[in-house]
Amino acid sequence: MDNDTIGTNPKRAIVTGGTRGIGRAIVKELATGNFRNLLFSDIAFVYNSCDECAEQLIKEIDNPNVKVYSFKSDVSSFEQTQTTVDAIIKKIGGVDVLINNAGITKDNLLLRMNEKDFDDVIAANLKSVFNYTKAVIKPMIAQRYGRIINISSVVGLIGNAGQSNYSASKAGIIGFTKSMARELASRGITVNAVAPGFIQTDMTDKLTEEQVKRLIQNVPMARLGKPEDVAKVTAFLCSKDADYITGQVIAVDGGMTM
Ligand code: NAP
Repeated sequence: MDNDTIGTNPKRAIVTGGTRGIGRAIVKELATGNFRNLLFSDIAFVYNSCDECAEQLIKEIDNPNVKVYSFKSDVSSFEQTQTTVDAIIKKIGGVDVLINNAGITKDNLLLRMNEKDFDDVIAANLKSVFNYTKAVIKPMIAQRYGRIINISSVVGLIGNAGQSNYSASKAGIIGFTKSMARELASRGITVNAVAPGFIQTDMTDKLTEEQVKRLIQNVPMARLGKPEDVAKVTAFLCSKDADYITGQVIAVDGGMTM
């Protein structure tokens, strides 16, 4: 199959952190087949703890042309990732699209942040991107086609007090994205990052009303974003219309960074 044929064929995707928030919206967006030229035959999503969320998501997908599978695995573990990606590829026959979305926060001012909270966030947010990318690039190179989208954050661009671990992981994702884009461009693989601003999910539900009010003061559109806002840009980057885009960071942030 040539690159162009693979580009228009129904695709097989892996989405990490698919059970909640942005990842859940991405799985649903890809599964609806709404975006021009973008159809999926199989979507495998990875999660860490919430079994009911995984079952519920699969129930909510009502497109009979797409098969959706869940895999429980810790994205921060290199070994678990190898086993999981092997199992996914066995199940869905290959991988065309990888969305590195799983992430956590363990916020604190540096004075109070302990080593474990720094290491855990780097492992779940940044090492996971290395783990999954490394596990999929061999088959992507062999087929000379791949779309990799990494979910970073605006705080990886501008920093945030109390989030030195998180913003370091998200800035790390941007450097990784650009290096991979350069390494893989000649192999038919594009690698891009999406940098959401403040999006209404379980992650931001942890913030106090006062914190949200303060954050919104820095958003020209004066509101939080929706997971679907991020999912739609991610779907675009998987589509044929984005074939000439690589190494980019697209902010979905209501104008917060410009
Ligand atoms: P969320 O609602 O907290 O959901 C996180 C998802 O990641 C869950 O499905 C969770 O699965 C999974 N996950 C976490 N750690 C994992 C691990 N070690 N192994 C496997 N899966 C794991 O988060 P969200 O707000 O949707 O954020 C999604 C991504 O967008 C993250 O990378 C986040 O940093 C980024 N982001 C979010 C915002 C925002 O405002 N919400 C802004 C910028 C960037 P379980 O529930 O099973 O643990």
